[in-house]
Amino acid sequence: MTNSTKNKSLYIHIPFCEHICPYCDFTKLFYLQKFSKPYLETLFKEIDSYHLNKMETIYIGGGTPTSLSDEEFEMLLKKVSSLLKDGGEFTCEANVENLTPQKLSLMARYGVNRLSVGIESTHDERLSQIGRFHSFKHAQEVIEEARKAGIKNINVDLMYGFPGQTIDEVKDDVRNIIKLNTEHVSIYSLIISPGTLFFNKNIKEQNSDDSRLFYDTILKMMRDAGFERYEISNFSKPGFESKHNLVYWHNQEYCGVGLGASGYVNGERYKNTPSLDVYIKGNFVSETEKVNQKLLHEYFLMTHLRLKEGFSLKEYNNLFNEDFYLKYRDLIHDYVSRGLAKIDDEKFAFTDDGLIIMDSLILPLF
Ligand code: SF4
Repeated sequence: MTNSTKNKSLYIHIPFCEHICPYCDFTKLFYLQKFSKPYLETLFKEIDSYHLNKMETIYIGGGTPTSLSDEEFEMLLKKVSSLLKDGGEFTCEANVENLTPQKLSLMARYGVNRLSVGIESTHDERLSQIGRFHSFKHAQEVIEEARKAGIKNINVDLMYGFPGQTIDEVKDDVRNIIKLNTEHVSIYSLIISPGTLFFNKNIKEQNSDDSRLFYDTILKMMRDAGFERYEISNFSKPGFESKHNLVYWHNQEYCGVGLGASGYVNGERYKNTPSLDVYIKGNFVSETEKVNQKLLHEYFLMTHLRLKEGFSLKEYNNLFNEDFYLKYRDLIHDYVSRGLAKIDDEKFAFTDDGLIIMDSLILPLF
């Protein structure tokens, strides 16, 4: 596969973690040097195979990129930083326990200008219940260290909806996270997927009444603190939206490399193999899907409608050669009258009430 000129973003998956969290269903493996070394060599070959131009955004995610040794991490940053356009956004994910001063100084040296730290909870008992090995105090310290290293754009991840969680705990978490004064916060509810330890232990997700109360409380607190919820789970201070993730949510093409990574290049979506053995043999892509008009329409709606701003009617009408309003008039009126969506001359978007049930609202539009 060669790179398209439309492609301006690169996602790189580092699947290694120092421990496996009981709720995690990402593509991940225990960090072992006997795997990480051949993995990085193969990853670099995969990157080269795309003959990439300079990228506007690069995102190193995982897994846990900072679980690599300092030497491996430097090799990775050196390779990847050469692909970034001047002024581009360069994000790296990190876990608190392995975001050391050495890792931070390597990030600063190789131009990482956006850091995303998985904090998940600000309560130490909760952190150990969900298999996290850091304390909130340690999380506060690494954010300070990151500032000292010169990183001006920081995201933190927070989760809610843990078994037995109360509204007071959620409020306390949000208050503590706001005090960190980061530019961006991603807030996700706990999802228990088949195959995870929590699922096997029959741990249940929260009931929907609590979940709704938590969601509304989080929204209000974050907005009162000056954050805008620009995507269903993402909050930013003005001007600090994730440029890389907006590429996904605008349904634009991007290149994805690494174990289990997905990509969208030259009108084709693909998924890389989740098997390390297969990957290291150089068989990267395991599934492809040519995006025909019908799929393009589905992806367009599923991605754009996650955003507060929704989509431009002009863009929709040009892309699909039909008038969105005329095509869905009855449905639009129904959604708008129930307070679930809004439409004006330029845009269609879901409201706060619509976003929380967006999957069921999008389906009739397919
Ligand atoms: S650190 Fe992240 S990727 Fe690794 S197991 Fe935990 S949740 Fe999954």
